[in-house]
Amino acid sequence: MARDSQRTKLYRAERAFWNNHAAGQYTPDFNKGGFHELVHQVESIWADAAVKKAFPEIATRPVPNVKTNKRRGAHAAPYFNELAFSQGTCQPWVVIHELAHIIHYRIVFADGQHATDQADHGPEYAAVYLRLTEICFGFEAREGLAASFRKGRVKIAPKVVRARKI
Ligand SMILES: [Zn+2]
Repeated sequence: MARDSQRTKLYRAERAFWNNHAAGQYTPDFNKGGFHELVHQVESIWADAAVKKAFPEIATRPVPNVKTNKRRGAHAAPYFNELAFSQGTCQPWVVIHELAHIIHYRIVFADGQHATDQADHGPEYAAVYLRLTEICFGFEAREGLAASFRKGRVKIAPKVVRARKI
């Protein structure tokens, strides 16, 4: 994996957008059903036909395991097919961000193939994130997030980049 040089820029740009976008947020109590909502969101996205069509690499993969994070924040462990969320990360957009990591990983490390030049929050990840945003929240959300990325100088691959055959 390449150095994750645009991570901070991406974090800043996504927050600038999602903090003002209703579809990306709700504030359920983590302990009163909020966590369950996150798990449900992950399952629905994973089962979505449009998602499977856009990312055929995940079509036969099991739905990622969702855990509570003991530390603050949300976290994806793509190798273990696992996501973790803490209180304060009960936002649909956070689920999209983390799920995009799992999908990006599956695309880069598709069976028998790999490409080592893609960073965790690099241009190719940004392309996956935007595509997933479009499927889940619509074209307008995708365009708004992309505009925020461009404003924050986050590089975006022109399309989702598949693994290269080696
Ligand atoms: Zn991330």
